[in-house]
Amino acid sequence: MGLRPRIAVIRGDGVGPEVIDATLSLLERVVDAEFVEVRAGKAYFNETGLPMEEGGMDKLRESDALLKGPIATPTKGRSYPSVNLRIRREFDLYANIRPFKSYDGISLRRMDLVMVRENVEGLYSGEEELRGDVAVTRRVITRRGARRIAEFAFRLAEREGRAKVTAIHKKNVLKVSDGLFLEEFYHVASKHPSVEADDYIVDAAAYRLVKVDRPFDVMLLPNLYGDILSDVAAGVIGSLGLCGSAQIGDEYAAFEPIHGTAEDIAGRGIANPLGTILAASMMLEWLGIKYREGRLDDIGRKMREAVERAVKDGVLTPDLGGNATTFEVAEAVLERM
Ligand code: ATP
Repeated sequence: MGLRPRIAVIRGDGVGPEVIDATLSLLERVVDAEFVEVRAGKAYFNETGLPMEEGGMDKLRESDALLKGPIATPTKGRSYPSVNLRIRREFDLYANIRPFKSYDGISLRRMDLVMVRENVEGLYSGEEELRGDVAVTRRVITRRGARRIAEFAFRLAEREGRAKVTAIHKKNVLKVSDGLFLEEFYHVASKHPSVEADDYIVDAAAYRLVKVDRPFDVMLLPNLYGDILSDVAAGVIGSLGLCGSAQIGDEYAAFEPIHGTAEDIAGRGIANPLGTILAASMMLEWLGIKYREGRLDDIGRKMREAVERAVKDGVLTPDLGGNATTFEVAEAVLERM
């Protein structure tokens, strides 16, 4: 008998519960897995005063992977510690992977690239202070952090048969921190001679993403550049709702859509579930590779192909100009599997 994965699920805030429930309705019918809900996020905090249920982190530790919806970041009113950050730090999920593949007739440009974003360092160091009228944030890039994320990018390129990794930077201004990032990048590149390596300045990369077809193959980005450029790429693809992501560490990984809570459309049953479904397909592929279960890998790939066919067939939520509901889109993906 093969592995029966235990998958932790955080439904999240805003459109999170809608896109997660639609994805679960699909997953439950294509994989034999145990799903364990962990309650967390802003809605849970408002109800209970806790950002995450007691024992929640243990439930995550006892699972094989996490599928999650977006969790609201506290900005005003009663604040609570970021659940996203806690999970990222606890499991050292240092690699944030975001594939962007264009759809004919929907996307502004042809694109088939993967962003590999460093997920725990850079301007997200959490080291900020206000001294009088001077606010300072430390942008931390370590040799170890730069090296392991570069290694991750080249291994991904090798595994997926991709030709080139491009490091994104602003070394002309941030000579020390981006200098170190680039130095480690080329050091790691020298050990992977079958994959080409080059680099690009971040502002020029933003322009290139919207200006040309097939702008990059694999992009390696420090944390903040990855955050910003992935929304640019999602815009070129056609919708934030159409893109999935993985946060991966050495032992554990979390999978989620790249969009936020989309409060403006929450509760109406019209959020695009495809980003979450694509995240779920990445999860199955990751579990398949990690536990050498080709079966899971296969289901993940079929799910991704079914998403492409559903979009091609015009089963679209309003963000893509259609009038299908969240659940209708998930059903359409299932039918095409
Ligand atoms: P957060 O503060 O949680 O990041 P946000 O509103 O700043 O939220 P998003 O939630 O990503 O950012 O939303 C940006 C825009 O994209 C909104 O107009 C939203 O409606 C749209 N959007 C995001 N996700 C989806 C989705 N799954 N389906 C349809 N539209 C979406």
